[in-house]
Amino acid sequence: MTDMETIVSLCKRRGFIFQSSEIYGGTGSCWDYGPLGVLLKNNVKRAWWRDNVELRSDMVGLDASILMATRVWKASGHLDHFTDPMVDCKACKRRFRSDKIDEEPWTHYCEAAKGNKFIIPAGEACKHCNHRRSLCPACGKGELTEPRQFNLMFKTFMGPVEDEAAVTYLRPETAQGIFVNFDNVLQSMRLKLPFGIAQIGKAFRNEITPGNFTFRTREFEQMEIEYFVMPGTDEEWHQRWLDERFAWYPKYGMTKENLRLREHEKDELAHYAKRTADIEYKFPMGWSELEGIANRTDFDLKQHAKFSGRALEYFDEETKQKVVPYVIEPSAGADRATLAFMVDAYNQEEVRGEKRVVLRFHPELAPVKIAVLPLLKKNDRIVETAKKLCADLRKRWYSVYDDTASIGRLYRRQDEVGTPFCVTVDVQTVGDDKAAADDKVTIRDRDTMQQIRVPLANVPEIMSKLMEGAWAEIAASADYKIPAKESSSL
Ligand SMILES: [Zn+2]
Ligand SMILES: [Zn+2]
Repeated sequence: MTDMETIVSLCKRRGFIFQSSEIYGGTGSCWDYGPLGVLLKNNVKRAWWRDNVELRSDMVGLDASILMATRVWKASGHLDHFTDPMVDCKACKRRFRSDKIDEEPWTHYCEAAKGNKFIIPAGEACKHCNHRRSLCPACGKGELTEPRQFNLMFKTFMGPVEDEAAVTYLRPETAQGIFVNFDNVLQSMRLKLPFGIAQIGKAFRNEITPGNFTFRTREFEQMEIEYFVMPGTDEEWHQRWLDERFAWYPKYGMTKENLRLREHEKDELAHYAKRTADIEYKFPMGWSELEGIANRTDFDLKQHAKFSGRALEYFDEETKQKVVPYVIEPSAGADRATLAFMVDAYNQEEVRGEKRVVLRFHPELAPVKIAVLPLLKKNDRIVETAKKLCADLRKRWYSVYDDTASIGRLYRRQDEVGTPFCVTVDVQTVGDDKAAADDKVTIRDRDTMQQIRVPLANVPEIMSKLMEGAWAEIAASADYKIPAKESSSL
């Protein structure tokens, strides 16, 4: 298993993810996606959107605003229930979640050992005096306040006046934007049950203990579906969505053994949920939630109808009756999915005595699909041919041109960012005074490191097949095989 430090370090070194405001010392738990990270995350979101919206006739999309009417959060229950129990240290003023406080090592000044300072493992007692933690775990000196409920929503002010009337919140989930638009979408699109509304967007939670890189952050991006069904068919639809969503991650290369389903216990169910199950991924810090799939019943639509005074119902043509649909909610995190795909793709192996780091991204998710590399950067015809090929390929697949190192180094660089294919233009491609051009280029596969030689003109057509996983088949074709003695470069 890869540790998180390795991933964090690769992410920074290769332009995937940087700490936010790093030159100012960083902010707690905020991260910026760099040039390759934004490509990767956009690819994850695009795959999700295409599979869940564009390829389904029962789904439509939405992009609601982050700031909403304050009453929304009263109706949804977030103002009253979206809280964590907090304690504060009276000395150092640090704040802790009272239900998680003993999950971290604690600082102890032991009177039985001349007042010396010890850092004691989480949940353990001091070996010298046998006391357990009673003071602040961070400074070891301050007393803690009684627990009080702390709302996780970010509060802000709408308009120029900072008074209570103008208080608003950054949305803690995208779901409510869908519920409040239920009737708008239903009427404008003339939808029939069952149907779903999907949305990708930012949400904000003032987490007391964020951490584990991009896993738990205060600003994050959700990929949510609210799927409206006839009451009574909800349990069946819930199961269908569980199966569907569980199969989605392996479709893009995620290892099945690193995924599992975890059913919520009755006492951990959210106030609106009838049943919830999480898809968990085996992250470096352990099994953790990747996506939650909840049966939210008719709770939200009924609450919003009650608080807004507007009916949020569906007219069933068959029974000629109005019903309030039940809702199945598959709620995934774009950042978590991106991190999981990253962790899952990471491989370190030894090739001819040398370390090779390779990200085995599915071609759909890989930030760069093709790298076009000139074997000699001083040969104008090679460079010109390579640049032209790169520009052609770019129209369909994000491709890069690189001539800043030897070919072996260039291959390793592309392996490390997960580029599925490299295309090399060499002297034979363009010809020289000794030999005529063969108008062929070499394609190298990231995973097998095998190479084939194909006509320059056929590269786009062959790439279409390779992107769909046809490497083994194409590499086996006698037309493209490279005689062993000629395949010198790694
Ligand atoms: Zn303290
Ligand atoms: Zn002690």
